[in-house]
Amino acid sequence: MDILKEENFYGIPASPGIIIGKARSLARDFENVQPDPIADPQLEIKTFREAILLIKKSLEKTADLVLNRMGPEYARIFEAQVLIAGDEIWNKKIDERIAREKICAEYIYYDEAIKVIHNLDLSRDAYLKERIQDIQAVMARLVSRMRGDKQITLKSIEGPTVVVARYLSPGDILALSVRKNLGFVTGAGGPTSHAALMAKSLSVPAVIGLGPDADKITSAAEIIIDGYKGIVVLNPSKGSIKFYRNEIKTESNLRKQLAELKSKPAITRDGVHINVLANIELPTEVSGVLASGASGIGLYRTEYLFLTRSSFPTFDEQYAAYSSILRKMKGRPVVIRTFDLGGDKVPDSGGRHFETNPFLGWRAIRFCLDRPDVFKIQLKALLKASSCGNLSIMIPMISNIDEITTTKKLLEECKEELRAEKIKMPEKIPLGIMLEVPSAVIIAEHLAREVDFFSIGTNDLIQYTLAVDRDHQLISKLYQSFHPSVLRLIKMSVQAAHRHKMKVSVCGEMAGDPLAAVLLIGLGVDELSATYQTAGILKKIITSIRFSSAKKIAEKTLEMKSHDEIERYMKKEVACVFPDIMPVIHFSRRNSNG
Ligand code: PEP
Ligand code: MG
Repeated sequence: MDILKEENFYGIPASPGIIIGKARSLARDFENVQPDPIADPQLEIKTFREAILLIKKSLEKTADLVLNRMGPEYARIFEAQVLIAGDEIWNKKIDERIAREKICAEYIYYDEAIKVIHNLDLSRDAYLKERIQDIQAVMARLVSRMRGDKQITLKSIEGPTVVVARYLSPGDILALSVRKNLGFVTGAGGPTSHAALMAKSLSVPAVIGLGPDADKITSAAEIIIDGYKGIVVLNPSKGSIKFYRNEIKTESNLRKQLAELKSKPAITRDGVHINVLANIELPTEVSGVLASGASGIGLYRTEYLFLTRSSFPTFDEQYAAYSSILRKMKGRPVVIRTFDLGGDKVPDSGGRHFETNPFLGWRAIRFCLDRPDVFKIQLKALLKASSCGNLSIMIPMISNIDEITTTKKLLEECKEELRAEKIKMPEKIPLGIMLEVPSAVIIAEHLAREVDFFSIGTNDLIQYTLAVDRDHQLISKLYQSFHPSVLRLIKMSVQAAHRHKMKVSVCGEMAGDPLAAVLLIGLGVDELSATYQTAGILKKIITSIRFSSAKKIAEKTLEMKSHDEIERYMKKEVACVFPDIMPVIHFSRRNSNG
């Protein structure tokens, strides 16, 4: 008997979790659509029209369902598909080509879709590129319906299953996600593809963007997917199965331990309270935050309101989003960050233009201050929503003091305008800034006099301090969170904040790394805000350490010369001083440390 050799494939970790099971390949690929001749074009047109109408109706139903279950951001994905399925100009073109060329409808639809996708792919416009996914989703449905493909169902399959396909639409993921012990692998897709967002939101482990390797996985093959690292192990060896079984066991033991900490405050063994907060991108994540044990939201990235749309959200839409989050959080602190739109994330209506260096360009507060028409709508929606809960407003990418004073003037103007409309607001709404540009940290003493809190955005602070693009794979080794210059800037931020009796939090990814968390706490950071999935882990760290010891450890790092030296020292010292947290550190750092 052949012993199948283990193969490892690497994709994008789209949704965390590990599944060890059997693959179920969905050969629903539209790449194989052939221009089959048909005998009766009129009958083909009729069948096509019935199919596209049914697809449109089913998408409308899904959009309604998703609206209730997951919220308007996700419903918009399906609404966009409804528009495509109902596009009369497109559908007429298909009718005409069927009549003229006497070729099956699915091929003609596929052929037209590929042309449009090709043109969209050439575009620099992120919004237009996003539409590719919608067209693919409708095309896949049409091809499958015209061919009479069965609806995907996993009813007959038992045990942990990994659905593998070249492409999965958000609708596929939604339909399949009712099944327990399920994972996804796709050939297509990027970290922000709709399928990825859907999988994450539904907590289904997923690895996407595997490329042609996805085709090598056939139904019934033994498979492991690691949604933390983006690894797919095909025909795993006994060793790999053992390793991942252990990981699942550690994960489930940790979850049990962490669950017990949920309702407990995050206080170190020597009595220092460190707030554990959550970062969110979508209002639908609030339920996850509430269940996680985080004591509030430390960063809501409002630019995600632009997901799946090409224009700025209206005042009413923004008010609805902000007020619903604040109400659901029931008085817990909620920090809402104003739009951090970058050069590559500006909708058409924003006056988009090409930038060679978007991260150094027309981004965040720079864009907002140049577009007071857009900014004031957001500020007013925030101010009006502020009476629904415990709101703080935070401004991203501050690099000088004028940006703060101008924002404060605009805020006052907005308050006046709302008061004139008899809209009530609390007396004081805390205003904070993100420290993520080195120039701001260097003048933090001055900035501290202008605001109520600081939040250190380490994702950008690292990239701007080290001149290393945060998304550039080739230089990812140079993106070093323990670089001595980064740690010194964090220390400077803490000192400036504390001298002005202000709290300072960290809301970049560094806050969610348990080893870094020990260091940040030791450097004097008061609050850690990371994805809500890490709240339990952070609480475990905080409740297991002594602040005085963390401080001693952190102070020592400020004398060191390099990232590697500091990281090595941290690992050694923490293992020695706080041995009980090592399993948590090991598990959560498996991704970054290899
Ligand atoms: C950061 O820069 O650390 C941050 C939290 O903001 P973003 O990742 O949204 O740029
Ligand atoms: Mg940032």
